[in-house]
Formats: sequence, structure tokens, C-alpha cells
Amino acid sequence: MTATVVTPPTTDPVRENALPDVYDRVESEVRSYCRNWPATMASARGSWMTDTSGRQYLDFFAGAGALNYGHNNPVLKAPLIDYLSQDSIVHSLDMATAAKTEFLETFERLILRPRSLDYKVQFPGPTGANAVESALKLARKVTGRESIINFTNAFHGMTLGALSVTGNSMKRAGAGIPLVHATPMPYDNYFGGITEDFHWFERVLDDSGGGLNHPAAVIVETVQGEGGLNVARMEWLRALAELCQRRDILLIVDDVQMGCGRTGAFFSFEEAGIVPDIVTLSKSISGYGLPMALTLFRRDLDVWAPGEHNGTFRGHNPAFVTATKALETYWKSATFAENTAAKGQHVRDRLESIAAAHEGISARGRGMAQGLKCEEKDLAAAICATAFERGVLMETSGPSDEVIKLLPPLTTSTEDLDAGLDILAEAVATTVS
Ligand code: PMP
Repeated sequence: MTATVVTPPTTDPVRENALPDVYDRVESEVRSYCRNWPATMASARGSWMTDTSGRQYLDFFAGAGALNYGHNNPVLKAPLIDYLSQDSIVHSLDMATAAKTEFLETFERLILRPRSLDYKVQFPGPTGANAVESALKLARKVTGRESIINFTNAFHGMTLGALSVTGNSMKRAGAGIPLVHATPMPYDNYFGGITEDFHWFERVLDDSGGGLNHPAAVIVETVQGEGGLNVARMEWLRALAELCQRRDILLIVDDVQMGCGRTGAFFSFEEAGIVPDIVTLSKSISGYGLPMALTLFRRDLDVWAPGEHNGTFRGHNPAFVTATKALETYWKSATFAENTAAKGQHVRDRLESIAAAHEGISARGRGMAQGLKCEEKDLAAAICATAFERGVLMETSGPSDEVIKLLPPLTTSTEDLDAGLDILAEAVATTVS
């Protein structure tokens, strides 16, 4: 089914120019991944992609977390093909359809009820940013307040509301207008453990001279994926949830990248034992890489008027079909989450040994979101470029692109994980020396 041997590096000297000229001529300069991975992709299965020349790549990026169950997973593909071949409903705004009914019932039965989560489900539009925008709007509408607390190095998307709670200065600058009504606070370990947690946040909340309006909500990622794989400690997350409750501030967990099993459990906050007021999900919720997003919130927060937040693509039925099948296949028991935790530990152990052999490189991450932080400027990008040449797709993250971030599909076999990690180890060794 999936190949297990990585194609040896080609000696093609012009890989940088390997894309057809139409990309340069027609596609905007804003394109990015095709610059780092200059290959025209033709097909994909599981953890492997194949380019038009037949070269294979082990995909350790998985659509930035949108392909937790791998490319073209045959278990999800079969009902999708059946659905399409029967002329079933593809587009339906937010009308009722059989596919949507089945998704909602399955999500309630396999995800919400077993976790005692009494959430309402909103379809906010197909992207993570759509989910974040609706979460921010709802928090403001419920509380009648404007201000949102976000965290240093947070990433929540590219639309204006989501950008206002995003840290990255280059991305923020793209807005072209002031990004307002959001105040950044230090994320866990921002001061290297020197400053007491929430010291600043609590202090300005208490101080009538602190200059902080009573916030509507705090938005947080349990692991900052784009921000450099910064992992919040469970006790930090619990203290944050407790602070929000005590201060009457809504807690939004953005689980767009770390949800759907990336850290082990379905939701990344489960391990901390917290229950956010609002949760955003996207990326792997459809299971097949099809666009889909959800905003979940406490039943009593459902103050939306009908149609107050809408959008044309909130009823992408093929995504409902694959999402339902993914939940039925992987989330009926604890096995998948346990396997992910075990694989994550395996990846971590291997990264620790790579880090131990190289000064200035350290391992970080949680579950199957693991990586290497490189102190030396531009080293992470150089290692990723070498890994690409040797047939592995991996990307950098962090404010200075200093972290190599690995997000392999959760279905990747240990054999394939090891094949990719062997290549990473070689890429580190050859790039560093
Ligand atoms: N939130 C988080 C935590 C994300 O990682 C991302 C995407 N990387 C988004 C929101 C935005 O999702 P999208 O790109 O689908 O708009």
C-alpha cells in the first residue's frame, strides 16, 4: 500500500527551477510552499507524495496538520466516491442534508457525549480563520466587551480579526490597517521560567491604572504550532482556565492545528482537564484534507441570531462524509489516541538523540507535533532544504523560522517514521558540519 523505501537523492542540479514557468509568470509572489519544495506533485497515498517525475517524498508536514489520517486514506475515500457517484448533495449552504445529519449525530455520539461536553456546533465557513473569526465575534457579542487577550507567538489565521490576535510581525504588517482590541500576554515560559505565571496579566486586571479593559475572552493554543512548537504546561493551562473563570473572561482554545488527535486525545486540552468555553477546529476535522471548520461553544453562549454569521461554504457535504467516516474509524475507542502518544514518544526519543549529538539544537513538542529548535540563524531552513533533497517534506516554524516542525500523518508507520527521522539525522549532520 504505502512505499517504505525513500528514493535516493537525485543529482538534479536545478531543483530550484523545477517548477513550470507559469508559477513565476502567473501566480502571485505570495506563494510559499512551492518555493521551499520546488516539485510538481502528482499523487499521494498515506504518508507519501509522488511528483510528476516519479520521485517520492515522505510527507512530514501533512498539509500543516490537515492530513492527520494521511493522503487519500482508502477507508475515507470509499464512502466519498460512493457519495459522489450517487449524485448526492455536494453544496447546500447550511441546509439540512443526510450527510450533515450523520456528521452531527456522529460528532455528538463519539466526541461530545463521551467527554461530557455540552457544546453547540457552528459551521463558520471552511477555514481555521473562519472558525477563529466567529469565536471572537461570539465572545464579544456574549460579553458586550471588545478586548481580547492573546499570547506572544500566537498564530490564529490571516483574516483581520484572527491577525489581530496573531503575534508574527511580518504577518501582522500585511493587514495594512491598525490591528486593535487585542492585548498580547506572555505565553508559558516566555521569560524562561523567570517571571511568575500570569503575574503581569493578573496585575493589570487588578490595577485600575493598568490600562487594560475587562477582556471578553482569552484565545490560546495549547501548543503553538506556527509560533515554534511552544508547549504550554498542563498546570499553566489549568491556571489560565481558572483565572478566566474567576475573572469572568471566556476561554477560547484554538485547536485548529493541535486538535483532531495531533497531541493524542481528540482535543489537545483534554490532558489538562480543562473545559474551554469556545473551541475552534479545522484542518483535520474532515479527515481527508477537504475544507471544513467548526466552532464549538457552551450551550448558554449560543446567542447568535439566525444568519448573523453566515457564508456560502458552510455545507461542504463531501467533507461531512469523510469527517463522519474518520470519527467512526479512529475515535470509537482509545486505541488511536494511545498509538499516537506512543508514536509521538518514539519521535521525541529520536529527536532527543539527534539533539544530544549537536550543540545548539534541542527537541521540543507534544504528541505527534515534535521538532528541533536550532539556535544558529538559518540552520533550521537549511536542514529542511537538505531533507527535501533527500526526499522528506518538513517545514520551519517560529518567529525566526528557527524550529524544524514535524507533523507526520498520525497513521504513519513506525518504519516510515524511522526512515524520515534517519534522513533528518543525516540532514542535520551534513548541514551542521
Ligand atoms: N489557528 C491555528 C492554531 C492555526 O495553526 C491555523 C493555520 N495554521 C489557523 C488558525 C488558520 O487556519 P486557516 O489557514 O485554515 O485559515
